[in-house]
Amino acid sequence: MSALYPTLPPFALEPQLVSRIWGRRDLKPWYPDMPTEEPIGEAWLSGDACVALSGPLRGQTLQEICSSQARALLGADRAEAESPLLIKILFAQEKLSVQVHPDDAMAQRKGSPRGKTECWYALEAGPDAEVACGLKPGASLGAIEASLKDGTLEKWLEVLPVKTGEMIFVDAGTVHAIWPGSVLLETQQNSDITYRLYDYGRPRPLHVQESLEALRLRTEAGKVEPVEEADRTRLVDCAYFRIERMTVGGHVASDRFTTAGQALSYLFLLSGTARVSIRSGESVPWPAHTLLAVAACCEDFQLECDGAVELIRIVAK
Ligand SMILES: [Zn+2]
Repeated sequence: MSALYPTLPPFALEPQLVSRIWGRRDLKPWYPDMPTEEPIGEAWLSGDACVALSGPLRGQTLQEICSSQARALLGADRAEAESPLLIKILFAQEKLSVQVHPDDAMAQRKGSPRGKTECWYALEAGPDAEVACGLKPGASLGAIEASLKDGTLEKWLEVLPVKTGEMIFVDAGTVHAIWPGSVLLETQQNSDITYRLYDYGRPRPLHVQESLEALRLRTEAGKVEPVEEADRTRLVDCAYFRIERMTVGGHVASDRFTTAGQALSYLFLLSGTARVSIRSGESVPWPAHTLLAVAACCEDFQLECDGAVELIRIVAK
């Protein structure tokens, strides 16, 4: 048992690279120094097994910290002592399966705590980058079922070109697929329920009945227009997360980032370098392209930026 802390200093989480058949071997410039013998599809930035790199909880996993420090990390009002969001980077070299996630109500009927609403922020996108997000107007359940039988589901998918810096919202129930050409920062409810509707004839198992139960013909999914605020750009705001992009420089006090006890948030270091200094005078390591966890009850800290630093801020709700 570790001590119970009323407040926590900010700490970075070590990413975990996950091998996937559709991934890539070269992770430059994102993780140039990490060994990649297998093709890497995902870097989990806030996985349950990601480890704190500094502070009193150094070496503990995020799951351990959520359960032992729930009040300080997640906020007083949170019922579950579990990480609310799973944040990943996806490196797709091939098409991922066409899939759908259940909403909270369906997940709970099946015995899981929550469904999965997610979103994708394009960190990088080549000229041909595309994703499939939602169904075309005129799609019906009957038409979808028939297209699965004759292998023509793709004609019903709404295909979106992706450009660097765009945000795509994918609410639970949306039929979707990540396709090659982009590097995406994915934020999702921390759930592992994925129903695979179609896999382009590849031999992996499908979950057609569950997919048809979970999917909705019309959803809120699609590109989200950014909203300019005084000192940040709001990229998306839904029931489960709010995501902002910020450009900061010089010395930045932590009250720009903290939530006064309300919620766990994360800062993703998109570009530039910054040091994080905490009350004790120590400097907290914050490697590029990692998440800095800012607890609901976070000690004051200061970012000391080298020139302009671009951040993505993700607030769990
Ligand atoms: Zn998904």
